[in-house]
Amino acid sequence: MSNSEAKAPTNFIRNIIDEDLASGRHDKVITRFPPEPNGYLHIGHAKSICLNFGLARDFKGRCHLRMDDTNPEKESVEYAEAIKDLVHWLGYDWGEHLYYASDYYERLFRWAEELVEKGLAYVDDLTPEQMREFRGTLTEAGRPSPCRERSAAENLDLLRRMRAGDFPDGARTLRAKIDMASPNMNLRDPVIYRIQRHHHYRTGDAWCIYPMYDFAHPLSDALEGITHSLCTLEFEDHRPLYDWFIDNISVPGRPRQIEFARLSLGFTVMSKRKLLELVREGHVSGWDDPRMPTLVGLRRRGFTPAAIRTFCERIGVGKSDAWIDMSVLEDCLREDLNESAPRAMGVLSPLRVVITNFPEGQSEEFEAANHPQKPEMGSRRIPFSREIYVERDDFMEDPPKKFFRLAPGREVRLRYGYIIRCDEVVKDPESGEVTELRCSYDPDTLGANPKDGRKVKGTIHWVCAARSLACEVRQYDRLFSVPNPGTGGADYRAHLNPDSLSILTGCRVEPALGEVAPGSRFQFERLGYFCADSKDSAAGRPVFNRTVTLRDSWAKLGQGR
Ligand code: ATP
Ligand code: MG
Repeated sequence: MSNSEAKAPTNFIRNIIDEDLASGRHDKVITRFPPEPNGYLHIGHAKSICLNFGLARDFKGRCHLRMDDTNPEKESVEYAEAIKDLVHWLGYDWGEHLYYASDYYERLFRWAEELVEKGLAYVDDLTPEQMREFRGTLTEAGRPSPCRERSAAENLDLLRRMRAGDFPDGARTLRAKIDMASPNMNLRDPVIYRIQRHHHYRTGDAWCIYPMYDFAHPLSDALEGITHSLCTLEFEDHRPLYDWFIDNISVPGRPRQIEFARLSLGFTVMSKRKLLELVREGHVSGWDDPRMPTLVGLRRRGFTPAAIRTFCERIGVGKSDAWIDMSVLEDCLREDLNESAPRAMGVLSPLRVVITNFPEGQSEEFEAANHPQKPEMGSRRIPFSREIYVERDDFMEDPPKKFFRLAPGREVRLRYGYIIRCDEVVKDPESGEVTELRCSYDPDTLGANPKDGRKVKGTIHWVCAARSLACEVRQYDRLFSVPNPGTGGADYRAHLNPDSLSILTGCRVEPALGEVAPGSRFQFERLGYFCADSKDSAAGRPVFNRTVTLRDSWAKLGQGR
């Protein structure tokens, strides 16, 4: 990781940690990233990962990766493995500190027994509907369940029988005995265990009761010696409950919960439920569809871990929820790829050009730098012959004055090559479509930086017709056509952008790109950044994803953002 990243800007969490270290409250910093393995990580999770692992790195502490797997219904090994892979991909390492909340089940159960023994938890027989009714409202205190005054001995017996499988699913719950009149609804005797016969991807059928998040989370933090437990703002109202469990159970640590604003990105959705629906209903090709805000999607699209880390640093960590524009993320990506991506030439919509005064059957090779500012990235040789392809958009039959590209009678420079002049336009007699340009070249104008004194305003990209490679290019646009999908009473799916994917076939690229490793990134000169698709590319038959354009075309179009 670079030095600039190591000196992260300060934020309110860093200030709290500084104070805790100065006051001696803590002598080290231990954070954790606690994903639930019920889906793939998205860019919002990246914010949390960079924050937690970044703090651990900067304060020379450590960050645990903990699978928060207390909800067997939706969790799987596949998701857990993908989470590990993606945290590594982002550039972070938990070392030996990989944990699973499901490994704590026995411990958590004993702590539940402790609460019961202390008269601080009871087994309740209310149905979910009754429980809701008894709970009261924001303006009205709740009522105690008839089971609230059961004796500790009876509760202990019932709790153990719950665990033993004596009762059907949902028949009973274990509840913390706190305060049914609390203005904070979370403290109105929250459920801490529920009966649910569901196969767990790790513990199998060993358990038929599972702990609730609000109970399992603080205790897992305490067990691991977490000092600062960072979560998103919606858990602010749960903090008194977090502290209540820490205060009333004989846990080994005293973690402190601190809330920060979650990341919301425009033109996409970030709830795992919605992302799963998009996958299941076939709106996208999978979790790793390059239009998805998932890390697997962004990776396949060509995003770099460095760009995502820079983004997470740039947006900062604050206390108020704010929407971040997608262009912020894309700018971080452009900055990184501009530095790191080798240049190449590709033509998306080829138009044949015949160089009439270049001998048939002959060819040349031009030297082309892989990066204009980085000689250390080397160079390659690109073939040239009598027939080449240029971009259809780089020709206009009747151009405006400032069109410095090809037009009848006009000259352009071929990137790394000669100056050519358009002498004749060949059209399909029926459709009138331009099918070929016949040009002549000036043999004295070769060179990447020729000092031939010729004033030619335009330089265009091109490839050799015979020795270029046909390929498919996938261009992506925003997955949704509005900044905040699902607003105004609409289903978020109604806002899917029908033009978010366009597949171009018959594109042509330099021959060397036939052998690139899947996932390799390039700047196709004048077009944008592209990445060889990691799933669909084959040797000699690459498929390229357009990662991002060279400039923000949405800003140019003034799409009201
Ligand atoms: P979802 O609501 O989409 O299911 P989640 O918050 O339940 O997401 P978890 O797997 O529990 O998903 O999240 C793991 C960690 O990532 C949590 O600490 C959570 O606060 C954090 N996180 C999730 N989404 C965001 C986000 N958009 N911005 C910042 N942090 C996030
Ligand atoms: Mg969660």
